[in-house]
Amino acid sequence: MLTDKEAKKWFRKEAGKNPDKYYATDVLKEEGFSRKKCTKCGKYFWTTNKNRDFCGDTACSGGFRFFEDNPCKEKLSYIEVWQKFSKMFKELGYTPIKRYPVVARWRSDMDFVIASIADFQPYVVSGEVEPPANPLVVPQFCLRFGDIDNVGITGSHMTCFNMIGQHMFVSPDKWDQNKVFRHIKKWLNNGLGIPDSEITFHEDAWAGGGNFGPCMEFFSRGVEIGNQVYMMYEQTETEPKELSLKVLDMGMGMERCAWFSQGTPTIYDASFPSVVKKLIEKTGITYNKEIMKKYVPYAGFLNVDEVDDIDKAWKDVAGKVGISVDELKKTILPMAALYSIAEHARGLLIALSDGALPSNVGGCYNLRILARRSFSFIDKYGWDINLPDVCRWHAEELKSEFPELSKNLDAVEKILDVEKEKYENTKQKSKQIIQNLIRKEITEKKLLQLYDSHGIDPEIISKEALKLGKTVDVPKNFYSLVSELHSEEKKEIAEKKENLNLKDIPETKALYFDDYRKDKFKAEVLKIIGNNIVLDKTVFYPSSGGQDHDNGKLDNQEVIDVFKQGNVIIHALSDKPKFREGDYIEGTIDIGRRLQLTHHHTATHIINAAARKILGPHINQAGAKKTVEKAHLDITHYQSITNDELEKIENLANKTVKDKIQINSSFMPRNEAEKKYGMGIYQGGAVPGKEIRIIEIKGLDVEACGGTHLKNTSEVGKIRILKSTKIQDGVVRIEFVAGEKAKEEIDKKKGTLGELSKILNVDAAQIPARVDELFTKWKKAKKALKKGKQIPEQDFELKSTEKFQGDILTKTAEVLKTQPEHLVKTIKRFIKELNSFKEKLN
Ligand SMILES: [Zn+2]
Ligand SMILES: [Zn+2]
Repeated sequence: MLTDKEAKKWFRKEAGKNPDKYYATDVLKEEGFSRKKCTKCGKYFWTTNKNRDFCGDTACSGGFRFFEDNPCKEKLSYIEVWQKFSKMFKELGYTPIKRYPVVARWRSDMDFVIASIADFQPYVVSGEVEPPANPLVVPQFCLRFGDIDNVGITGSHMTCFNMIGQHMFVSPDKWDQNKVFRHIKKWLNNGLGIPDSEITFHEDAWAGGGNFGPCMEFFSRGVEIGNQVYMMYEQTETEPKELSLKVLDMGMGMERCAWFSQGTPTIYDASFPSVVKKLIEKTGITYNKEIMKKYVPYAGFLNVDEVDDIDKAWKDVAGKVGISVDELKKTILPMAALYSIAEHARGLLIALSDGALPSNVGGCYNLRILARRSFSFIDKYGWDINLPDVCRWHAEELKSEFPELSKNLDAVEKILDVEKEKYENTKQKSKQIIQNLIRKEITEKKLLQLYDSHGIDPEIISKEALKLGKTVDVPKNFYSLVSELHSEEKKEIAEKKENLNLKDIPETKALYFDDYRKDKFKAEVLKIIGNNIVLDKTVFYPSSGGQDHDNGKLDNQEVIDVFKQGNVIIHALSDKPKFREGDYIEGTIDIGRRLQLTHHHTATHIINAAARKILGPHINQAGAKKTVEKAHLDITHYQSITNDELEKIENLANKTVKDKIQINSSFMPRNEAEKKYGMGIYQGGAVPGKEIRIIEIKGLDVEACGGTHLKNTSEVGKIRILKSTKIQDGVVRIEFVAGEKAKEEIDKKKGTLGELSKILNVDAAQIPARVDELFTKWKKAKKALKKGKQIPEQDFELKSTEKFQGDILTKTAEVLKTQPEHLVKTIKRFIKELNSFKEKLN
């Protein structure tokens, strides 16, 4: 079978031979366009200009040419682009929908949305799930980090942009390509107000995920405005097969439209003019407007992805502007830095308020790069700019269409403040590292490694090296190289993957969803593979969603593992089964184990909600595990959780228990659930299927979850948080117990307190001070013994009576820098040693 790239190439050729079949050529001919072949790149294109022999591509047509004599009838502001577009498409029968979060929680294969169609993959595009509206248009923010080094410089590149999507999902008999093509053409003519003589349409092909189809790109004055893709075919071994669902995927940059219609020097001036203006005021930056004006048509030539020799490219551009390279850089680089700060702050605002956190792993690493690149520009030029302020300005500028971005501003500020602190610490540390390194040869690989593991900016290195008279070559696409280092890290898929031959075995009916207390059932044996048993139905819960499997018996034989393969549940027995396929057998689960797991699972949802209330809206589940002994919840948080915060979370969780809140569980169509509750339901990650199970703790928490759950929060009884640890950058683990295990823990704690009181001969509240005294006197005596010095009798007596308010065991453990479970043993040892020191010294 062909790869996507090969399929695209092959299909472009196929479609080129028969354009009437694959493109809306009727409309084009009707409107006076004729088909031509580009003399420069060989692509087929459509134009009304009889003499034109090259296509509209940036390179073929000679760069961006819309700054002078702009062809648009109207200048549209950024927000107006969407307002006008959505109004026009509403009249054409489309439903404008709200954007999806840029954090792609519903997908297991990507961290951030990279195109509007990603909102509807995989289940809408595959036909399994109904779209939220049909046809629809959506203003979808996207993040792509491949061009980060070009941001600011070329005037056109962004890491965060809004892709306006025009989408339709229909059966082949309802497919009308001419109609949807007319709609987008209407937007070009009447929305942006570009006359036909200024537009070229390009025949092209698209392929992805085993599907492919034709597409039509549209250009004006060297700018690609958008691309209308028609997903129509599926690759098979022999020939293309028509998809039963045809998908329209038109994507067009909102920023591009605003820029093109306004003809401003850069895309940033058009997309967030008020932020750029504020930054110019705040920095007091002045720049030569004449040089800027001459520079912008050629800015695209400095694309580091496309030129081999960037120094030569600068020389060429300077030549065209008519000044020296130094002069050009003096004008352009500070402005490029300022634009970058503005652009990165907007990406950070959107990603952070949608729930992402900068970190060292996976896609979120790119957010750290955005923040650090901004901080380092601010440092370099000595500007008085506070990044969270810039985010606030963006929120204000976007408020009329995206009010949700103003909701989490305090959280965004806190996250960026912590990020700034980390950046400053790194800078301090890096000075030393650089001093040690600078005398050796510094390769590109070393530079990348220094940034990646120590956060050391390559510019700092080259500056320090220069002081020693050495030059260090920093690759121009440095930041995209760093970004690539982490792009391989896919989201982890933790569920167990067995590979039993289950051909023709139907989906197992799960009996554990409705009643978590149901522990007995009768079922038919459908398949036996070794010790593995498949039944037609079962109450056995398979390990999934972080919850451990049930144990129990099938006809008196022990079940030691239960897992899922696709939609089939497999029971592993300790021995060979004594029953046969086709038999009816009885199953029983260990109900004590089930209840404890259920307590832990419901408590996980309760703690997640409590943590969000106490720590902020950026809290999301990053992972979870529920065993019989204890459970943990990993949450996204930018720093460690303090004891005080942990206590507040525990108190709120227990208040939720006391408040006796009803817990509803039901299966819902996916699109209905997403519409009603938002994409935050995917706390446990992406879940498959057309119908998803929703667990709702009324007014508190809604999650898509397949686990076993209680019917009311009061059934949890008690929740006791054991501790929290930072397990990786941006992720904190909270360990806890609930139900019976919490009661055991509390009893154990009471026991420990009682024993410590006895050993130390004080009331419980006096324990921390007494232990502190013990520890101080033990250290003093030990030192005295070593030096053979006498110390007074009273230095061996324990007399403190000071009382402590708060968690006594945690505080005491802190004093001794140990874990609460080791306290009794440790304190006994200190007392014994202190006594022996006393004997030896006297
Ligand atoms: Zn061309
Ligand atoms: Zn759950």
